[in-house]
Parts: sequence; C-alpha cells; structure tokens
Amino acid sequence: EGVVTTPQTTPNEGQTLPPATAPGPRMNATFVTLARNSDVWEIAKSIRAVEDRFNRKFNYDWVFLNDKEFDDQFKKVTSALVSGKTKYGLIPTAHWSFPEWIDQDKAARVREQMKEKKIIYGDSISYRHMCRYESGFFFRHPLMMDYEWYWRVEPSIELFCDINYDTFKFMADNNKKYSFTLSLFEYVETIPTLWDSVKGFMKEHPEHISEGNSMSFLSDDNGETYNHCHFWSNFEIGNLNWLRSKAYIDYFTKLDRDGGFFYERWGDAPVHSIAAALMLKKDQIHFFNDIAYYHVPFTHCPTGEQFRLDNKCHCNPKDNFDWNGYSCTARYFEINGLEKPAGYEKEQ
Ligand code: GDP
Ligand code: MN
Repeated sequence: EGVVTTPQTTPNEGQTLPPATAPGPRMNATFVTLARNSDVWEIAKSIRAVEDRFNRKFNYDWVFLNDKEFDDQFKKVTSALVSGKTKYGLIPTAHWSFPEWIDQDKAARVREQMKEKKIIYGDSISYRHMCRYESGFFFRHPLMMDYEWYWRVEPSIELFCDINYDTFKFMADNNKKYSFTLSLFEYVETIPTLWDSVKGFMKEHPEHISEGNSMSFLSDDNGETYNHCHFWSNFEIGNLNWLRSKAYIDYFTKLDRDGGFFYERWGDAPVHSIAAALMLKKDQIHFFNDIAYYHVPFTHCPTGEQFRLDNKCHCNPKDNFDWNGYSCTARYFEINGLEKPAGYEKEQ
C-alpha cells in the first residue's frame, strides 16, 4: 500500500474541473499568497483573475500563508477557486515577532512619529511583520520548500490579458531569477538608512555582488546613494532557490540585524529589488511586459494595440504607468539597452 503521490496537474480533490489544456510537463512551481482570513473575498477576486487568464490552462498549486490559522470559510472559498492543489500554512511565531535585539521602546517611538507624519502604515506593527516576513521568510516556510518557483499574488489584483504560455518555464528556459511588471520610487521616509545597511553588506560580502549587475538601476552615482527605484513586489515571479541562497540569506540577516524593519518601515519591495539588482546579472531580471496587471493604484497595460487585441486585453492603455515619470521602467529599459515599444508616446 504505497503512498500515492498526486501529480501536480491534478485539480483539487472532489472538484470536477476541466483538465488543464496546456500540454507538456509542469514546472516545480506554486502561487503563494500571504493573507488574513478577512482578505478572503479580495483574494477570491485575484484567484479568479489568475485562473481565468492563466492557471486554468496549467493547474499550478497555490500556497496560502497566515500568521493565524486559516478558518474554514477561507479554505472552502479558495480551494473551490484554485484549479491546482491548495495548501494552507501557519507562520511560526519566530518569523512574525520582534527579534530579541530590537529595542521595543525605540520601535514604539518611531511608530508614534510616523503616525504624526502620516506616513502610510507608519504606525502599524503588523505591516512591519508582514514586510519582514516577505523579505526574509516566506520562501523557507515548510510548504514552500517543495518548490523551486513562485508567483506572488495579493488580494484585489487584476490581470488584463490572456497568458497562453508557462511563465515559470519561460523563467527557467531563459535563466531568469526575478521578474516584475511595475516599478516606481519608494517613499524616502520609510527607508532613510536602508542604503547605509546595503553598503555595509556590500563591504562585508563583496563576494555576493554579481558582475554585470543592475547597480545603475538603483543608483545614479555608482552606489554612493540610492535613487529609490524598486520593482513592485506585490507581483513577483521568482526563483526560490535564489532567495534561499547563502548570498540572499547573508543579505537579509544583515538588514534584519540593523533593525530597519522596525526602527523604520522597510518594505519588502526595495529589499527584494536591491538584492536582485546587486546579486543577479542584469539579464536575470525579467520585465513581464505581457502580464497586464493592476494593484491599487497602478496599472501595467502593455503598449501596442495589436498585442492587446491578440491577447484579449481589457485594460485601458491610458492607465499604463510604465512611461510615467514616477515609474522606473524607462530606466530599466535604458540600463538593459532595450528599445521602448513603438508608439509608447501616443498611448499616454
Ligand atoms: P499594500 O499592498 O502594501 O497596501 O499591503 P497589503 O495590505 O496588500 O498587504 C500585503 C500582503 O500581506 C497582502 O497579501 C496581505 O493580504 C498580507 N497581509 C498584510 N498584513 C497582514 C497580516 O497582518 N497578516 C497576514 N496574514 N497577512 C497580511
Ligand atoms: Mn497589496
């Protein structure tokens, strides 16, 4: 009576779903969502979008992580919507609490000051735990250890175009490790000393800094100062082994020690972006132009009408953020020697 291992393409037990239509093998990949029970209806919308545009053809798994136990409603609703297997994980307390070296009074004073300055999430403890968790821990959750690739999905997102190929396979075939759809400038007030910490890391661990990296995406003066450009991490398709590498763990450990997740309000977006820009080669970071995406308040709508028609897109090209002055995507194009798509000026 051997253990039956369910192939990854099998839909949830008890569901009668049409089989995945995309032929061929699957990658060792999963969707991953960090969420609260109260996020259930907003994540339900996101799942619908991902399934309709992509996953009903591929049936990839979906891992849900939470600092509290997921309730029955959350599990019922989400498992009914996902075409792959769903898994629900509890985050260990050690990964969602103040490390012992953090001065709690100092952290509390900072939250008070940030509240007065009306900095978004400035007074929130849980938001800080969330950013630290996404920066340093989600990829080592036991449920994630089975996988090599992840696609992060947040509540209330939209996808606007059909995706007819396996994006995970694309990443693997093209030696990509990290990807984005939107980029922008971080609020300076949330990361005043992040770059000092990064510089400390570069000094301590020069062996982790890649040749042919994207420093010029992050800095206009060869690394002296940070220009605040980052990839927006509410969407990510990436390689978990890279995040689990010694280089990334040394980097996270250094940042975590320096305390800015609590003494400031470091976001996982600049933390991931800086790591990708410094520790990967330029061409290992991919811009998914064909993944049309919305997370409040920004939209990535692919430039070029023919592409949008061919892929049944339903975004308004006027909402596209890419060529706006607050986006860093033009800079990404420049440093990678990419041509901006024809007609981009006309679709503003
Ligand atoms: P924003 O996109 O920066 O405005 O932040 P969100 O509110 O979307 O939070 C980012 C992600 O973390 C989302 O997937 C949320 O569902 C999740 N999240 C935020 N706070 C918590 C929390 O306290 N507990 C859990 N389990 N998830 C959280
Ligand atoms: Mn969000």
